[in-house]
Formats: sequence, structure tokens, C-alpha cells
Amino acid sequence: MANLDEPLRKVLGDKTAKVLEKGLDLHTVGDLLHHYPRRYAHRGELTQLSSLEDGEHVTVMAEVVKVQGRTLTRNPGYVLEITVTDGTGLLQLSFFGRKGSYRPEKELAPGTRGLFAGKISTYRPRSGRAVRQLAHPQYKVVHEKGAAEQAAQEWADEIIPIYPSTKALPIETIGTSVGTVLDQLSLPADPMPEELLRRRDLIGLRAAYEGIHRPRGWDELGRARKRLKWDEAFVIQVALAQRRRAAAALPATPRPPSFGGVQAEFDARLPFELTEGQRQVGDEIAADLALEHPMHRLLQGDVGAGKTVVALRAMLQVVDGGGQAALLAPTEVLAQQHHRSITGMLGDLAQAGQIGGAENATRVALLTGSQGAKARKEALLDAASGAAGIVVGTHALLQESVQFADLGLVVVDEQHRFGVEQRDALREKTAGGRPHVLVMTATPIPRTVAMTVFGDLETSVLGQLPAGRSQIQTHVVPPEKPAFLARTWERIKEEAAKGRQIYIVCPRIGEQEGDEGDAIASDDPQAGEGRRSPLGIMEVLPKLEELLAGLRIGVLHGKLHPDEKDAVMRRFTGRELDVLLATTVIEVGVDVPNATVMVIMDADRFGVSQLHQLRGRVGRGSLQGLCLLVTDAEPGSKARERLDAVASTTDGFRLSRLDLEQRREGDVLGAAQAGRTSSLRLLTLQRDEDVIRDAREEATALVEADPDLSEHPGLATVLASLLDEDRADFLEKT
Ligand code: ADP
Ligand code: MG
Repeated sequence: MANLDEPLRKVLGDKTAKVLEKGLDLHTVGDLLHHYPRRYAHRGELTQLSSLEDGEHVTVMAEVVKVQGRTLTRNPGYVLEITVTDGTGLLQLSFFGRKGSYRPEKELAPGTRGLFAGKISTYRPRSGRAVRQLAHPQYKVVHEKGAAEQAAQEWADEIIPIYPSTKALPIETIGTSVGTVLDQLSLPADPMPEELLRRRDLIGLRAAYEGIHRPRGWDELGRARKRLKWDEAFVIQVALAQRRRAAAALPATPRPPSFGGVQAEFDARLPFELTEGQRQVGDEIAADLALEHPMHRLLQGDVGAGKTVVALRAMLQVVDGGGQAALLAPTEVLAQQHHRSITGMLGDLAQAGQIGGAENATRVALLTGSQGAKARKEALLDAASGAAGIVVGTHALLQESVQFADLGLVVVDEQHRFGVEQRDALREKTAGGRPHVLVMTATPIPRTVAMTVFGDLETSVLGQLPAGRSQIQTHVVPPEKPAFLARTWERIKEEAAKGRQIYIVCPRIGEQEGDEGDAIASDDPQAGEGRRSPLGIMEVLPKLEELLAGLRIGVLHGKLHPDEKDAVMRRFTGRELDVLLATTVIEVGVDVPNATVMVIMDADRFGVSQLHQLRGRVGRGSLQGLCLLVTDAEPGSKARERLDAVASTTDGFRLSRLDLEQRREGDVLGAAQAGRTSSLRLLTLQRDEDVIRDAREEATALVEADPDLSEHPGLATVLASLLDEDRADFLEKT
């Protein structure tokens, strides 16, 4: 009998265990049982060959149509080419070697059906059409001899699980191993409470493992998937419910709104009316800050919705209450900009201790990783003494050396770049109680993600943009219309002549060979062999200087010294530059209302959300914004579809859903998630909103009734092991 922790070695023997360990990183019985089939094949049904993509590791069911040997002039001298079909498309299996040295020649006669596994590639002969092929595939003949004994239909309906595999693994290894493990499996009591299973119409765990690995029918498979999916959703929700509960129980210093403080003074001077949404969310936050437990709120608002003002008002409320606020920004550029704009908006309200400072003024300090020793020392002192009511900074704020006199509020801007653990690092800086936390994101988060990744936060949404914003026009500048590109440069000159400013963004810095600087590799779904490397700003710069002769061009990227970055941004903000040539360092938050054109080079190399963010840098004032997506992606390609989608709408929510559909879960939950032990195998954030919502409901109730899970020991065990293994994966997202 084998339990879930049993090493595979003990159950399967050294040889097989080693293969599974090396090939798929599976070590225990539990690992193997959670290695679910990727697909299921009907014995009677062939795989649709046209659906296969280059580079994909596949297992297909197909029928041999032709077997042909070919002598090669070069090594290894001979190739056996076997053509298989699904009835419509063709696929070639190539076995290189010496003539007569291969089994396939005998086993794979025309008419034979089999499973073939390998990596799809395209082979282009010097003459003739490109051929889809599997080089040296693993294969397994699906013998037809059982057919006579079984009813024909039953045989054809048999479900054959197809596992994610690797090249080195014989096709049948996983299936056989899973079978052995299932036969010897000894499970503890079901971790899910019995009445919950009944209420939610879920089958037991053992039946679920059986049903997913060796289903006797599609119904059984469906029930198995439902149960296992539930477990994935539920365990995460229990963890989040516990986090919420623990956080809510902590003490915090209440900072109720006060009259006649800096906040009131600031409100009175605001050069614009707050939008209805800003007012409403502001009230929610004001009420939260007045409570004796820490606020944990997520503020979502599309690019340009005006989140900064909302945050600043909250910070001032805390300053009025005698505390300090920290504003954490994801990049140096953004931290500097926040510091500049907050200082600017506050005017003499930020000049405490200076001549001309207002009566109840405070100070705004800036702390970044690479600022000079003197500036840093000053900022550290202002934070520690409490002289600075607001401290703006990057990750540098998280360091131990940074201390606050009385940290009352932490604002995290552009949350998607910070993880839960980092939020915690800041929270710990408050002696005694915990600070209130406000997290802001411009990437609209679909509900499912909000309930999962951000499941420990309450949510507010800034729905509408401030009035007076003009729509941004977006156009794709495609390779088949070279005139559009010429027009792009003309358009830039025209805008500059009107005194407007222009961003030009490239995917890379491209200073030296192999320099990946601010590269955006992970967001490039089409990444792969054979593409030219993305444009770098250093390559583009000389050409721009020619094309845009007479315009003042500045360069901004992540490798510049922070002072240089700051200087370039200042010059751009101060209209001393016409064009800012940059990498994605300007992706988030940069706010220059006079900038009207955003040109994105190699736009197909960026993700949908990134494009939306970049586009949000223009059209921020009352001036009409224009966004041009320059690409050499061919019409009809996936990349072009994405660009067309971005051009067709400025609705961030729609785009973020599209983005979600195009990414794998791993990318949504963080890079680590895509790796070894993803906690999500069946659950998808795109399609399983219902499951996630139900699980959240049940989990909240269960944790309310039994906070430390003492009445649910099985569940506690599962949770503990998930948190051990996958903590970084699903709670942290940097
Ligand atoms: P985001 O939500 O993207 O962070 P910002 O806070 O940077 O947006 O605001 C974008 C711009 O809109 C800023 O220049 C800001 O001063 C301006 N703004 C914010 N609220 C309003 C408002 N109610 N009316 C007019 N302009 C506003
Ligand atoms: Mg912002």
C-alpha cells in the first residue's frame, strides 16, 4: 500500500522512478497522481493534425499511409520517412539511421494505427512544400486484435489518456506507472468535509483519481475533473480566507478624517472637480482608515482614471491623524515622478520647516535604491523622525535600514509588480499595530484573478475617466502598407510643430550584443527560433535622428543612472524634448499631459496589457491622443489579431480578458507558477469563475467556523503542503 508521500522508487522500482524524476520532476506517489492527462483520445478517433503547432510536444493518434526510405548523401546516410494521416492532414515521421536498422520499418505498415509522440517541427525541402514532421518520435502501435472480443463500439469508445510527456519517455511509461500506483494507493480520510461534498455534488477523492487517470466513460471523467478542480480552488480560498481573517484581527491605529487639516486644505485647492467615482472610493477609504483594524484595499482604475489623487487624499488623512504614509512604486522613474507630482500638487503644503511653508504643512521624502548617500541619509532621517509625512520610494523602502516614526498607511502603486510578501515587509515596519494598506492597479483585473491572486483584499473600482478626456485613436502600421510608416514620421513632425510631444517605444535597449536590458521576453507569445531580435532603441536612434532631423530626441531606459533618468524625464516634462525614445520603463504611470503621440515599434512583441498601458501615456489631457502600433507581423497572424484588438477598443477590462485568454495561467499567477509544481492544474481563471466563487464562499464560511482548521485535520495537512511548496508560486508575483 502506498500513500501520497511514498517515493515512487518504492512503488515503481528504481529504473522507472528515475525516468519520471529526471524527465518530469515527479518524485512521490502524489506527484504522479497529480500529473493529469493533458488530453484524452478515442481509440476510434484520430487527432486533428492541422491543430498542431510548431515546437509543441504532442502525442497524436494517426494512421500510417506511406512508408518510404531515402538515401542521404550526408550522414547518417539514410532516412525512413513514414507519412501518417488523420484523414485530412498529413504528418511525416522521420527516422534517421542506417538502412534496415529501424524497427518502425517492420511495425508501421500502411494501415496501422498508432500513438506518435514528439516535438512538431517544420521541415523545408529545397524544392517543394514545407512538411510538418516529428523527428524520431516515440510511438506505440494501437493493436486491433482486441476488437474481436469486445463489442466494436465499446472498443472504439475506449478513452486513452494522453499525458504531458518529454522526449525521453516511452509513451506508455506514465500510464502504466499511474496504473500501478492507483492499484496500491492508500488514501487518508477525504480532506473535504463530507457534507460539503454532498452539498456541492462532488465525488470522493479516490474515485476522482481513478476517474481522471482511467476513466471508463466521459461522465466519469467529468465528475473526476469537477472534484479535483474544486480542490484546487478551495484550498487556495481557505488560505486566503485565513489570511483575511488574521489580517482583520490585527490592531491598527484609526486615522479618522479631521477638519481643517492638510487634506481639507488640499481639497480646497484642487484645480479640478473630483469625479463621482473618486469621491465614492475616497469615502470608502476614509471610512476604512477610521477603523481599528488595518484596511486592505485594492483600487482598480483604468489608465488615466486618476488614482493618484485618491491615494494622495488618503495619505493626507493619515498625516492629519499624526501618522506617515509610504508610497511604493515599481520603478525608479515612477517613484521620481510621483515625488515630483505630489510635491507639485501640494505646493507650500509640502514645505514644512521651510520659509513659505504653509501652517500645517508636511514634507515629502524620496527614497530610491541608487540615490546619492547624502540625499538618502536625509530621506532616512526624515522618515525616521516623522518630519516627512509622505515617503515615496521603490523597493528600497522595504530594506531594514528604513524606519518610520509612525507608519500609518502603505500605498502600493501598480500592484502587479509586487508580491504579497513584499506588502508584508512594509507592514512589519509599524511597531505595535499594522499600517493600513491601499494597493492600486491600472491593469483591470478580471474577477477571477481578483478573487485568487488578490483574494486577501477588498476591492474598489474607479469606473469612469475624468471628464474632458478625448478618445485615443489607435492604428496598426503594418508591413504591407509602407506608406503608413512614412506617414508616421510625418505625423510626428506635425505634432512636434504644434508644440506637442511624442513617445517612441522599442522592446529593447540593444546597446550591445546580447544585452537584454528592459527586454520583454515573457510577454512575447510568438517568441521562438527564426525571428529577428526585437528592435532596440540604440539601433533605432541614428535612424530617427535622420528621419526626424531638427526634433529634440531624449533617450530613457532602465540601465541609465537614476539621476540621468530623472534629468531626461524633467526635460521631457519641461518640454525641452520633443521626442522621448524609451523602453517600457515608461509603461506605468508616467504622466505628461502634453504628450499626444505614442509610437510603439515592434508592437507585436508586447502583451495586450502592456500595449494598453503604453497607450495610456497619451491622451491624458484634453488633447486628442494618437497611438501607432508599428509591426512587421503578417495579416491574419495571431500577433496581428492581438494588435487589431488593441486598436479596436480602449476598454481596459475587455483587453485584460483578452490578455488572460492568451496567456497561460502561469503567466497570470507569476512566472514561478509556470514551473514545476503549479498548484493549478485543472482550474483555469478564464473559465472557472463559478467554481472559484463557490469555493470562496464555502472557504470563508469554513474558516469563520473553524479558523485554525482543528476540526478539519485532513484539510490542514493539504493546505500546509501547498503553502510549503507553492507559497512563492501563488502568493508572490514578482
Ligand atoms: P492613473 O489612474 O493612471 O494613475 P493619474 O492619477 O496619473 O491616473 O491621473 C491622470 C491625470 O488626470 C493626472 O494628470 C491627474 O492630475 C488628472 N486628474 C485626476 N483626477 C482628475 C479629475 N477629477 N479631473 C480632471 N483631471 C484629473
Ligand atoms: Mg498612476
